[in-house]
Amino acid sequence: MLHLGFMSCGSSESVYLISINWVNSQYPKMRFEEERIVLEQQTAVQYPQQPHGGKLVNQVLTGKELEEAKAKAEQLPKIMVDLEAVITIEMIATGVLSPHTGFMNEADYKSVLQTGRLKNGLIWPVPLSFAPIGERNREVIKTLSIGDEVALIDESKKPVAIMSVEDIFAYDKEMRASHLFGTTDRSHPGVDAIYRRMGDVALGGPIKLLSRAHWGPFEKLRMEPKDTWKLFYEEKKFRSVAGFITGANPLHRGHEYIHKNALEEIDGLFIQPLVELAKREYTRHEFRMLAYRSVLETYYPKERAILSPLRVTYIFAGPREAVLHAIIMKNFGCTHALIGRDHAGVGDFYDKYASHSIFDQYTPKELGIDVRLFHEVSYCLRCDAPVTSQSCPHDNRYRINISGTGIREMLRYGILPPKEIVRPESARIAMQGVQPKGVDENGQAVSPVGKTIKAIFPYYLEYTRLGGPKRERPLKPEELTVRDLEAAVLDVRMNADRIYRDISDEYNAIGDTNRNLQPDWIMSAREAAVAQQQMVISDLEEKVQQAPEVASDEFMYQNKKEAQQELDVARKILEDIPSPLRKEQIAYRTWNALPYRRYRGDDSN
Ligand SMILES: [Zn+2]
Repeated sequence: MLHLGFMSCGSSESVYLISINWVNSQYPKMRFEEERIVLEQQTAVQYPQQPHGGKLVNQVLTGKELEEAKAKAEQLPKIMVDLEAVITIEMIATGVLSPHTGFMNEADYKSVLQTGRLKNGLIWPVPLSFAPIGERNREVIKTLSIGDEVALIDESKKPVAIMSVEDIFAYDKEMRASHLFGTTDRSHPGVDAIYRRMGDVALGGPIKLLSRAHWGPFEKLRMEPKDTWKLFYEEKKFRSVAGFITGANPLHRGHEYIHKNALEEIDGLFIQPLVELAKREYTRHEFRMLAYRSVLETYYPKERAILSPLRVTYIFAGPREAVLHAIIMKNFGCTHALIGRDHAGVGDFYDKYASHSIFDQYTPKELGIDVRLFHEVSYCLRCDAPVTSQSCPHDNRYRINISGTGIREMLRYGILPPKEIVRPESARIAMQGVQPKGVDENGQAVSPVGKTIKAIFPYYLEYTRLGGPKRERPLKPEELTVRDLEAAVLDVRMNADRIYRDISDEYNAIGDTNRNLQPDWIMSAREAAVAQQQMVISDLEEKVQQAPEVASDEFMYQNKKEAQQELDVARKILEDIPSPLRKEQIAYRTWNALPYRRYRGDDSN
């Protein structure tokens, strides 16, 4: 019922704003006053990043103030909010959506929809608006005037926040849908949510948080912006941090490729899996987090890779959501935002790279975070590496594609995806949390199996095997069955890491001058083949001598000309047999013009 939108945070921010006191010492120090951090910005700011709009918001009440507010909430009119609203309120209060201290007024709301900016020009991609639904709420809203306070209560009637009403305005769903999502098509989940979950009247104004939700299994890993700034820049002394927000898919090697590229250059990596309101079919968040933890422990530098869940409402805004995520990363203190292909994508509603091109609208300076855009990652078996179209010249014969949907489908068929695209440490745990699990009564997962094969094993439709010859006609995805999936997976398991190894073996066989490394039995086989072919030649030479110019029966016997042709072929075959290349045979390759001692500096005669 409430959606991300935004309110102007001009200069009138209340005492609840967090302020970090940046003193002129080596590192900024925080001064706590009445349990609230106070920020004085007159001194040089030493952190390499600033919150969006310049101030990190803190609307979380504590101590005496909290007790008083709780008592007051009992007396105030009450609006009941759903879980999505509770999450957004908490995001606002803890500074995740800085500089917003509450929900947007009409001017900012419209400005954001139309221009992707607040009235004051600050970039803000999605509305942060509050339009409660329900008959009871509607009755309460009718009684409100500007200047009133209202208590926001959750579904168990517990007061979550107090809102100061600064604006009341009619809420135009169609305008919101068309501007935000570029469509009013209700099959778009974001559009559908507007019509289902948003009321006709919106309230704007700041909120104060009375109660922080417990995050269940994620509570122990939870970090708020106030924690991360301190962690990054005071405890760890990072000079740069790359943020990465990720959705419903288990950690795969496309993610890892992006992370590791960033770690080459950037001090810290801050990974935030979204842990709220996923699609219907997904991998359960607690298992996704566990899969992340397993892979991070095994493959990532412990001190530099930080994992923390992000409880944010899915808004399905496609490209605009990518911009919102970049701003959220900034508010957590990240200097860089890592954005993959189809970040927060929604089916086929947007161009594959729309979440990249949207950043063209903003200058890096006004965005205030260094956005790094990554192309779609796949695994190339010829390169033997994760690649993108930017870095690999090879074709589908050698490619395993990384499709999040395809990976989840494979888990439902009970098959761990290829190690080239998902680390087994991730896949094994993800399988336990995939939803739905297993296949239906007809042996089918969510979508047709051919779609999964095409998404992950594109070679299978066109080629007889991995790296193999072309099929006479390509297979059609709709013809494929789970047997085809099994065949493709077996081929990949047996041969994926063989292609590059075979190539390397071949180069070693002809290149090693230390022949002790080469298998003796291969050399013996080559010598045997040479000897056998010489035997064939020797007999054929005799045959040529004995052959008549004209054969008496052209089927039974050969004339001299034909016998000579057989001999020529046999000689050619001898040339084609690879040389055994024993030590003595290639001793010629190792030579130096000067005595060795002279390379060590001895120039005496
Ligand atoms: Zn390649």
